[in-house]
Amino acid sequence: MDHFAYRDGVLHAESVSMTRIAEAVGTPFYVYSSATLTRHLTVFTEAFAGLDALVCFATKANGNKAVLNLLGKLGAGADVVSVGEMHHAIAAGIPVDRIIFSGVGKTRDELAAALTAGIFQINVESLPELESLSQVAVEMGVEAPVSIRVNPDVAADTHEKITTGRKENKFGIEWINAPAIYKRAQALPGIAVKGVAVHIGSQILDLAPFRATFQRLRDLILQLRVEGIHLERVDLGGGLGVPYRRSDPSSPPPADYAAMVKEVLGDLGIKIVCEPGRLIAGNAGMLVSKVIYVKEGESRSFLILDAGMNDLVRPAMYEAFHDILPVDEPAADAENAPVDVVGPICETGDLFARQRLLPPIPADALVAFATAGAYGAVMASTYNGRPLIPEVLVDGDRFAVVRRRPTLEEMTALESLPDWRC
Ligand SMILES: *Cc1c(COP(=O)(O)O)cnc(C)c1O
Repeated sequence: MDHFAYRDGVLHAESVSMTRIAEAVGTPFYVYSSATLTRHLTVFTEAFAGLDALVCFATKANGNKAVLNLLGKLGAGADVVSVGEMHHAIAAGIPVDRIIFSGVGKTRDELAAALTAGIFQINVESLPELESLSQVAVEMGVEAPVSIRVNPDVAADTHEKITTGRKENKFGIEWINAPAIYKRAQALPGIAVKGVAVHIGSQILDLAPFRATFQRLRDLILQLRVEGIHLERVDLGGGLGVPYRRSDPSSPPPADYAAMVKEVLGDLGIKIVCEPGRLIAGNAGMLVSKVIYVKEGESRSFLILDAGMNDLVRPAMYEAFHDILPVDEPAADAENAPVDVVGPICETGDLFARQRLLPPIPADALVAFATAGAYGAVMASTYNGRPLIPEVLVDGDRFAVVRRRPTLEEMTALESLPDWRC
């Protein structure tokens, strides 16, 4: 459920109309709903009531400071995948004892920064990383709290570019090597073995691959106990999918997911950590754009928008579907016709939707891409010399610009001519 709806014929985020925001900040822009973020986090957290659970929001889904701050105040931690994200999460007020550092290629500098900050957990993904971390920790005279990310070799039915839990993927320690790496970790100085972690992919709409993964984790945890290694945490990663089609709002409810986790792992007396990203933020955000031109061709019509693939890359990168809503509510009897919805970028791939059935939308009208709150703004670039677009947070009847549009001067400020040209 989200808090985006038509009111008096205009699309609103909570009690603020998209036109009001557009007048204030210009287009395109991202808009997030506080009520929706709050609801998603609360529903997820409450589903784990009765278990010792920590929810660490996957910062890479939406790294805006205001979003992180809101989720942090509601009790969420953060899962970060770079020192930049860690810095962002700390700056947003997320307590360090709720921050997890994931990622397959953390540098020594990043590992040192994580140890200096004193975060909750570092998820180690390879033997060389474990050895580097041990050396860095020893040099610093500290112990690194480590979970080993294992690769359960479970196929999740999702887009090829977002499946991560098969053995041919680059992520995690191969299942067969997991017991050996725990023994190695225990023997290494500077390493405090805390737990086991997985993350099998993203936008997964079926609980079966999660269940198969968690069952494997259970087996591993019990096997390690026999060998005298007692893990205190299990980190289940993220990956639960969200509905991208408003006409088909079916996706596994967090309650079903949590019930399955309880069933498989609930009796182990072990802390449960979750890293949802998309589930919390996806449907809590929209991208609003203006139609620049309507181009009627011989065989096709095009809606040419002021937003491009640099602002929202998911359609170009993953063939992802986003619902496109006219901000002015179409008349009940408006007839839909197929149209290609494209951006202004000089790339054929700058195509948001092919032959989408939409009501007539004139030039200068606004359209909104739904489910753009996750992997939207964070993936944006300045390709074609386009400034990153503003992000706006709505709360009831008020809104705030939580990332402003840079000026053109700011965009070039980091560049300089070489000395020898001067
Ligand atoms: C991307 C990622 C997540 C979040 O995935 P979602 O599909 O957005 O829930 C969680 N954990 C790790 C390690 C990730 O890389």
